[in-house]
Amino acid sequence: MCGIVAYIGPREAYPVLIKGLHRLEYRGYDSAGICLLNDDIRIFKCKGKVSDLEDYVAGKNTSGTIGMAHTRWATHGEPNTINAHPHFSQNRTIALIHNGIIENYMVLRSELKNRGYIFTSETDTEVLVHLIEDIMISEQVAVEDAVRIALNQVIGAYAIVILARDSPDKIIAARKGSPMVLGIGKGEFFVASDATPLIEYTDNVVYLNDEEIAIIERGKDLKIKTIRNQSHTPYIQKLALSLNEIEKGGFEHFMLKEIYEQPRSIFDSMRGRLHIDQGNVTLGGIRDYEQKILNAKRIIITACGTSWHAGLVGEYLIEDLARIPVEVEYSSEFRYRNPVLNEDDVVIAISQSGETADTLAAIDLAKSKGATVLGICNVVGSSIARATHAGVYTHAGPEIGVASTKAFTAQVAVLTLLGLLIAQKKGTIPNSRFQKILLELDSIPAKVERILQLNDKIRDIATIYKDVKNSLYLGRGYNFPVALEGALKLKEISYIHAEGYPAAEMKHGPIALIDEHMPVLFIATRRGIYEKVISNIEEVKARKGKIIAIVTEGDESVKNLADHCIEIPDTEEMLIPLLATIPLQLLSYHIAVMRNCNVDQPRNLAKSVTVE
Ligand code: GLU
Repeated sequence: MCGIVAYIGPREAYPVLIKGLHRLEYRGYDSAGICLLNDDIRIFKCKGKVSDLEDYVAGKNTSGTIGMAHTRWATHGEPNTINAHPHFSQNRTIALIHNGIIENYMVLRSELKNRGYIFTSETDTEVLVHLIEDIMISEQVAVEDAVRIALNQVIGAYAIVILARDSPDKIIAARKGSPMVLGIGKGEFFVASDATPLIEYTDNVVYLNDEEIAIIERGKDLKIKTIRNQSHTPYIQKLALSLNEIEKGGFEHFMLKEIYEQPRSIFDSMRGRLHIDQGNVTLGGIRDYEQKILNAKRIIITACGTSWHAGLVGEYLIEDLARIPVEVEYSSEFRYRNPVLNEDDVVIAISQSGETADTLAAIDLAKSKGATVLGICNVVGSSIARATHAGVYTHAGPEIGVASTKAFTAQVAVLTLLGLLIAQKKGTIPNSRFQKILLELDSIPAKVERILQLNDKIRDIATIYKDVKNSLYLGRGYNFPVALEGALKLKEISYIHAEGYPAAEMKHGPIALIDEHMPVLFIATRRGIYEKVISNIEEVKARKGKIIAIVTEGDESVKNLADHCIEIPDTEEMLIPLLATIPLQLLSYHIAVMRNCNVDQPRNLAKSVTVE
């Protein structure tokens, strides 16, 4: 994870870099640091957030028109000031920032130590800066050549920026595995982990590819080389991202804003794809692979975290609608075992950021076995979007809150469209049923809007349960992944221990936990396995557990049993996750706010998990 940003041009670099770091803070907030280059290299860094860095820097000399900055999510070494980036080389002539992991850092470190280098931090990153300096001295080469030679010795993932005292008008940047975008303005250049730090300055961007090095010089054209010293012509693209998309727009937190954006983000993810008048679904991004998908013997969905939960909903949906066997795999497990995969398989990789390192590795594995790989991601031009054969974007807009909300429902909406498309083409469901689901899907954004009006009621429930230590989330069928997602949301942002379980599995263990202190959240909507869930509610009640239930509007049976009911509009069973997730997001949000937790930047977490 980690966020990196760099600038060279006529402006003062400091304000550009600090603003950029604030935008990238979702990627990590263990420490922050900045480097400015004039006649000398100045580094300011400290433990904590970007605002702590600002306090620390106040009153110091921050002048300079070239600089770089970093916000860290620690992988190697404590989140303290010493381990904060940028890191200096031994004779303090080179500074470096890094996002990723240098896997062979131990070997490199001991070689460098033998050559007299003294390490000050515990990070894997520090080996890189000493290595570059060592090559510059021993081989008498320019900094860009030293970077290239060094990167040939590195195993792992990196997005790095290097400033050298003796090249005061030059930025060297390189990437492999971690994202990096370059912004090209008039006489100025920007480098960043994503495009948010540069949107107000330019809409001309170049996405650096793996193993490419950018040589950015004041007053010159951008040069790109590979680590094998081949020149590449920069491919300049237009950026489609606006400033108000990445601002809070009057909401107290990004997470709340993003929860409220869901009617729009679900609608946008279906726009131009769901055609009520023609009674069909089209997905332009996968058109060339449609036949392959229809003939698939098996679909494997690979993802991490919340996207994995969306994948689980996808499994139920696609099997239900399209009658193709589906398996859902954690990318981190899938990539390290020896899965059976062949040319008839279709693999769907889901990731909000499109940068999830484990999912990218799973994609490589699937491609190497000849499978067709589709991507579902939210960030246009992201690594997953580029690594897959084809894909469908979720048009949820930038998601900045670290706990995913609108990306989840957008992913589920896209998976629903995919299931429907395959079902219609394969004829696995009667047309009348297909049309009915289509109409229902079309009405989902309006129903989400209605659920958002329950916010005050949900806040009241949050007041009652904000101090609990544990909680259980239970659901069956399509509501089981909703239970998992609800529990994940609560633990992520409020640090309350929460477990999601299939409701009937409760008897095989978790029921032992139930007493009068344990809140149990049931997703007990009327369609599906409703009666059985009511029996499960009875079982909890008999043991004095507190029951909060998400029910269908007008429900009477659960109301008689539950301590609190949240009523959501009725819909097709397979579409309930799109609705039932919303009150759970709001409940977690309010509980976290009442516990004074940092909702948008929960501890130890970061978005866009570019480390394995
Ligand atoms: N491995 C580096 C560190 O721990 C960078 C971490 C990251 O990119 O998340 O400082």
